[in-house]
Formats: sequence, structure tokens, C-alpha cells
Amino acid sequence: MLTYYIRTFGCQMNLSDSERVAGILEASGLTLAENIEAADVAVFMTCCVREKADTQLFANVSALKNAPLPPSGKRTVMVGGCIAQRDGEKIRQFASNVDAVFGTQALSCLKPLLDKARAATREELKRSPLVDIDQPYTDTSEKLIKHPERNYAAWIPIIYGCNNFCSYCIVPYVRGRERSRLPEAILEEAKKLKSAGVKEVTLLGQNVNSYGKSFSGAEKNAAASTTASEATPHLAYGFADLLRDIAELGFERIRFTSSHPKDLTDGIIDVMASYDNIMPHLHLAVQSGSSAILKKMNRKYTREDYLALVKHLREKIPDLSLTTDLIVGFPGETEGDFEETFSLVKEANFDRAFTFIYSKREGTPAATWENGSTESEIHERFDRLASLIQEQSFKANQKEKGRIVDVLVEDVSKKDPSILVGHNPKNVTVHFPLPKDADAYAFIGQIVPVKIDEAKTWYLRGELADAN
Ligand code: SF4
Repeated sequence: MLTYYIRTFGCQMNLSDSERVAGILEASGLTLAENIEAADVAVFMTCCVREKADTQLFANVSALKNAPLPPSGKRTVMVGGCIAQRDGEKIRQFASNVDAVFGTQALSCLKPLLDKARAATREELKRSPLVDIDQPYTDTSEKLIKHPERNYAAWIPIIYGCNNFCSYCIVPYVRGRERSRLPEAILEEAKKLKSAGVKEVTLLGQNVNSYGKSFSGAEKNAAASTTASEATPHLAYGFADLLRDIAELGFERIRFTSSHPKDLTDGIIDVMASYDNIMPHLHLAVQSGSSAILKKMNRKYTREDYLALVKHLREKIPDLSLTTDLIVGFPGETEGDFEETFSLVKEANFDRAFTFIYSKREGTPAATWENGSTESEIHERFDRLASLIQEQSFKANQKEKGRIVDVLVEDVSKKDPSILVGHNPKNVTVHFPLPKDADAYAFIGQIVPVKIDEAKTWYLRGELADAN
């Protein structure tokens, strides 16, 4: 019996795709290996959003060249995801031990590709590499069986691709244009997850807020033919409707990511504010606080638009945890532009933020632009911003001290098996000690009350509270 192992890089969409890859391999009789070195089939699901990801991938794939072969005597190395879609056969220039490359829309062709790779000799594969990156989008991959990593939480992809073409981002080129799944398909998947006991679902997409915008008459008719009795008027069905319908199914926790500020409507905010099971956490990438840089980034909102949105969100959802992404050192960013980012961060008062130094992505418009700032100026700005973010995160976490919060327990601490780890509704990591003589694994997947008694910059600590 063959074994497999998947190593995933990048975003939750990739993690969700990896669950589908695992589903295909398990359905074909493969079982999970202990690690990637021991696997007959080693799959890498790649990300090309940052340069580091490319380097990481090639180091990981190349390391397998020196690993002892698995018991079958043959290791098949497959690379999928965004780098696979972008580079196709070129991947083999950097990692000659790759046997097959499959694109972001080729999941349903994975099994035939694997069969060919297993049947071929290394010489044959060197002569004619197996590359499948030209699949058109169909909904077939949606129907593939998933092999979820966790039975209490699930990702539900609702929209694929992106139409925004932010000038620094490669995603629209490798994931294609926006395609929303039909509401019927999503709701059916969600109902199955609910019946299976899943407590938390995360609706996924590069821009979930633009869900439904790609519906055409053809899709509407297709849906009408599958659910003749209640043809949903898809043309008017957007993310607010979907979020409400998912909330009505009664999951204990609903999250969604990613949100684009320009598409976050009052309707979506109203639905978030109306349902207790939609978690009070929103990740809303701002990227810069300078309207001039936002224009160069092609973000389609200004500093003022973003701050007005934050004000509205805080009025509607007072206890909202707001997190963001920030890019420092975008081409043309001046000290003045950076000061505007710094002051926006102060005004928006984020709970947490991911701060990145701009990384050039070949194939995007920004990759051809000159960067007017020096490396040391960029690093100095980055450090200043990182200190502010740390300060804000520490303050935001202090507010949790003394509160009893619901924690979805997800793991046992790697460093200390007597500590359980989970997340509160605001998506902050919470650590708490396992009660004496309790079975740690019986807690995983449960939502338990935890009294917070210590708040650090990036996590909280507490004690299991009385459930009553
Ligand atoms: S919204 Fe912009 S940053 Fe996000 S995936 Fe689309 S192009 Fe990339």
C-alpha cells in the first residue's frame, strides 16, 4: 500500500486545496506517511505571494534528493498550487527531482497524473515531464471528496480567483478571474458539515466580499435546473445573503477571510452585527495609509474611505477585533507616505497586524517600478511600525484580562503537553492548563469557558472556568 504526505505553504485556500488532494489520494487507497521523507508520494502545495515561499519550496523539494527512498523503492514528487500554476515545467530547472506539476485548477486530474508518474521511469520523466496547468475552471474540483485535517472546524471555499489586480499581487494571474460557487452547492456542503458535528466554519476566498458578483444568466439557469422548485435569484445574491444563510444553519462559530475594504458593504456589516455566531473578528487588509500609495497599489479606496469604514464598523460592532495587513517599502513610498501609514494605524487602533516589507513579484506591474527608498530606510520604517503594532496588540489583549471567554480547543502545546491551546471568538490564541488527570485529547474540538488571567502581546493565558 502506497503512502503520501502533503506539505502546504501559504494561505488557507491552499490548506483547503490540500484537504481535497488528501481526499483524492485517500480515495485511491493511499495512506498518510509519518513524514514527507517516508512517503511514496510527496506533494508540495505552493504559494507565490512572497519571494521567501519560492526559496522555501526549492529548499524543501531539493532536500528530498538526499533522503533514503521509501519502502516501495520509488518516491514520486508532485508540486501543485500557485508556483506550479505560474512556472509549470520551469520548476524542474530549480528542482530536478520533481516528477509532476499540477495547476490550481487541475485537482480533478491529480489521480491520472499520479498514475502516469508512478508508471514512468525517471529517464522518461526527464524527457517528458508531466505538467498539467491548462485546465479550465469547472466545478468538478468542488465535488472532490475532502479529507479534513480537523473534524470540528472546516474551510468552505466560496469564491475562487480575484479580479482586483492590486499592482503588487500575483494571485489574479495564477488563480484566474473571480468565480463564485453557487449558493446551493455551498449550503449543501455547509449542511453536511453541520450534521457531521463541525463547530466552526471559515468561508474562504481571495475576496469573499465580492461573492456573487460573477453570477451570470447561465449560472442562474444551471442552478434553476438543479433546484427547480426554488431557483435562487443569484443575480441579486451576494456575500451578505450567503453569510446570513450560513449563520442560520446554527454553527457555533463562523469566520470568513479575506475581505477587501472596497467591497465590504453595509449589508455585510449588518449581518455580522446581527448574528452571535458570526465571530467578532474582521481581517481587513489596508496595506498603506497613504492615498497616493493606495492608488499606485490599485486598491480602489483612499485613506479616508478606510478610516470611515473602520468608524462605521466600530459603531455597529463595538467589541470587534480588527486586524490588518501592511506593506512597508512599496515602490515610491516616501517618508511622508510612511508617516500616513503610521498615523492610520494609530487612528484605526488595530488589534493585530501582519506587517511585510514589500517583496517584488515578477509578472506584476509594481515589479518594474523603482523603489526610491534605501534598504535601511525601509527596515527602519518597518521596525517603527512593528513596535506600534506590538503596543496596540498588547493593549487590545489587556482588555480580555478578567473576562471569561469561550475557547475552541485545537491542540496540546508542543512545548508543554499539560497546556491546551485554542482560540477565543476574536481569534486570539489562548493557553490554559489541562485539568488534573484529564485526557487532553478529549478537549480537542470542544468549546470551553476560560477565565483570562494573563495577557501577553500575541496570546492570552487563563484557567478553565466553571461552565455554569
Ligand atoms: S485583492 Fe489584491 S491582494 Fe488580494 S488577491 Fe486580489 S489582487 Fe491580490
